[in-house]
Amino acid sequence: MEHAADSTHPRYNSLLKRKMIEDAAKIGMLADSALIAHGRGEAFDYLIGERTIESAMDATKEAAARLCAAERPVISLNGNVMALAAKPLLRCAAVIGADVEVNIFYRTPERMKVLMEYLKDAHVEIADQTPPEFDAEVWQKMVVEVRLLGNSPDGRIPGLEGPRANCHSDGILASDVILVPLEDGDRCEALVEMGKDVIVVDLNPLSRSAKMAKVTVVDELCRFAENLYVSCLNPASPNDNWDNPKILQTALEEIIAGAVESA
Ligand code: ATP
Repeated sequence: MEHAADSTHPRYNSLLKRKMIEDAAKIGMLADSALIAHGRGEAFDYLIGERTIESAMDATKEAAARLCAAERPVISLNGNVMALAAKPLLRCAAVIGADVEVNIFYRTPERMKVLMEYLKDAHVEIADQTPPEFDAEVWQKMVVEVRLLGNSPDGRIPGLEGPRANCHSDGILASDVILVPLEDGDRCEALVEMGKDVIVVDLNPLSRSAKMAKVTVVDELCRFAENLYVSCLNPASPNDNWDNPKILQTALEEIIAGAVESA
C-alpha cells in the first residue's frame, strides 16, 4: 500500500484505514466478509464527504450522555472495530467507566485468541499514554478498571442461534446501555428486544442496525471514537425525547446532497 505512507495523497485517511483492515486480516483478526463490510462503509463515507455531519455530532453527544449516565455501560467490539479503533474506544471506556466485550459474528477460538491478545496489548499501551486532561496515576487507575471481556462467555443473547449469541452474563447480558459499532442487524435487533438502550455507529443510515438502534451515529468509526472521547469529558444529560428517525432522515439527505454535488 504505497499510498498509505504518502500523507499528500487525497485519499490518505481512507487508504490508512484500508491498510489497518488489511493488516488485521493478515494476523487472523477478521473473517473474510470483514473487508466487504468495510468497503460498504467506505462507499457511504465517500458520499458523505468523509466528514462528521452535524446530526452525527448531535448523536455522538447523545451517545456520550447515555453511556456516562448508565449503570452498566458496555462497549462491544467486533473484528473491524478492533482493527480500526481499539485504543480510542478503550480510552472512551476508561472515561465512561465502561467494560469492553469482544463479541464477533463468526466466533472461532483462534480469532478470539488473537483479538483478546490484541486488546490486552492495547490496554497496556493506553494506560501509559496519559491524556493531557488527567493525572498519570488517576488515568492508570481508570484504564485498569476497564474489564476486558469476551474470553469466557457464560451467557447467550436470546433470539440468536449459534456461537454469535455467546456473551458474558456480567457484561453484555447485564448492560443497560450498550455501544455496538458496526453491528449486524440481527444482533442489534436481539439487543433491542432485550430492552437495552442500544447505540449504533453505522455509515449506512438504511441498514437494519441503523434503523433499529435507539441512537444511531451515521459517522465513520475512527472520527466517532475521537468525538465520543471529547463528549464524554463533559457529557450532557440524556435526552428523553431523542428523535432517532429524524437523525437517519437528515443523514440520508446529506448523502443524497453529497452524491448530487459530486455528480
Ligand atoms: P444490517 O444487517 O444492519 O442491515 P449490513 O448487513 O450492511 O447491515 P454488516 O455488513 O454486518 O451490516 O455491517 C457493516 C456495516 O457497517 C455497514 O452498514 C457499513 O456501512 C458500516 N461500516 C463499515 N465500516 C464502517 C466504518 N469504518 N465506520 C462506520 N460504519 C462502517
